[in-house]
Amino acid sequence: MGRNYFSQKRVLVTGGAGFLGSHLIDRLLDQGHDVLCVDNLFTGSKRNIEHLHQHPRFEFLRHDVCFPLFVEVDEIYNLACPASPVHYQHDPVQTTKTSVHGAINMLGLAKRLKCRIFQASTSEVYGDPSIHPQVESYWGNVNPIGIRSCYDEGKRCAETLFFDYHRQLGLDIKVVRIFNTYGPRMHPSDGRVVSNFIMQALKGDPITIYGDGSQTRSFCFASDLVEGFLRFMDSPAGFTGPMNLGNPNEFTIRELAELVIELTGSKSKIDFRPLPQDDPLQRCPDISLAKAKLDWEPQVQLREGLQKTIDYFANGDFVD
Ligand code: NAD
Ligand code: UDP
Ligand code: UDP
Repeated sequence: MGRNYFSQKRVLVTGGAGFLGSHLIDRLLDQGHDVLCVDNLFTGSKRNIEHLHQHPRFEFLRHDVCFPLFVEVDEIYNLACPASPVHYQHDPVQTTKTSVHGAINMLGLAKRLKCRIFQASTSEVYGDPSIHPQVESYWGNVNPIGIRSCYDEGKRCAETLFFDYHRQLGLDIKVVRIFNTYGPRMHPSDGRVVSNFIMQALKGDPITIYGDGSQTRSFCFASDLVEGFLRFMDSPAGFTGPMNLGNPNEFTIRELAELVIELTGSKSKIDFRPLPQDDPLQRCPDISLAKAKLDWEPQVQLREGLQKTIDYFANGDFVD
């Protein structure tokens, strides 16, 4: 779909070389916008955006959002932050800096440009939740000093900054809380459960279930999530969120392992490992707000989305 001179926007996507950012950029370019992708390539990869290098409306800038950024754009999506526990725990101080300093710099940029800014927050702000499913009004149960805190508290502080820039300076903000999302372009050694299980199944290695596998997650396919991002960003000013986006169908990790084994036809056995500290026992979004405000709900269910993700990993030169 083409856009004319007046409806075409210059859109900044931080973390654009990552899994979700690269899918978002594909959609923004399809809509006719001009996209600036900013990424320090910590967990993202040039591979995710290599199909765009000849694209006349696409630009890549290698930059760390912890440092100020002076560019001219009409809209900002702030996605820069490692998302997998393995990666965000690798350098936890840098993780907090990315969330907090990154938010301050991107909010400062939005303030100067007087432009709309979107924050990719997370269901992790709910911690190990004591209410189920999680609604946006729930304040969360987060350990401030544990191994997940760099991510959880960093994202919570980023939300605080977004809402204070909104209240204090009138910034036009959109804050989304993303629940577990998966799909093609996840990093194969990312450490998250879907990529781990698929890679293990394809290689015939043991499937590593942490704990007894009774903990639950709700898995959203990337294309559904990105559709939610775009609808939210186009919603009226003043509708700030925070808003949950995710798939409300809940599975145990053991069920996920069994489904991956079935879909890959793998002979992998299950290997039970210790449950990491502060691993939430259950997680499922209440998406009533997104349904009511955006007329949004996921279209791709787990079996179909997993098959597409398996095809990506199986055909992508990832398996030796
Ligand atoms: P990802 O790791 O694939 O993408 C994150 C991107 O940010 C990477 O390209 C990485 O190189 C970049 N980045 C990291 N630190 C940076 C820095 N200091 N400066 C510039 N770039 C930096 O992860 P993803 O799944 O695509 O996650 C994207 C966003 O969505 C993250 O903010 C994450 O917290 C959020 N989120 C994702 C999920 C999910 O299930 N995928 C769930 C909740 C929240
Ligand atoms: N900032 C930026 N790009 C801009 C404007 C600001 O990176 O175009 C950064 C700036 O370096 C500052 C941060 O955003 O550290 C917050 O900016 P703000 O104007 O809110 O705060 P101040 O500069 O007054 O501390
Ligand atoms: N998990 C697992 N095996 C793995 C990777 C993860 O059993 O190889 C579990 C993990 O302990 C958690 C769930 O799967 O309970 C989801 O983990 P992930 O790292 O994908 O995301 P989280 O929702 O914990 O941030």
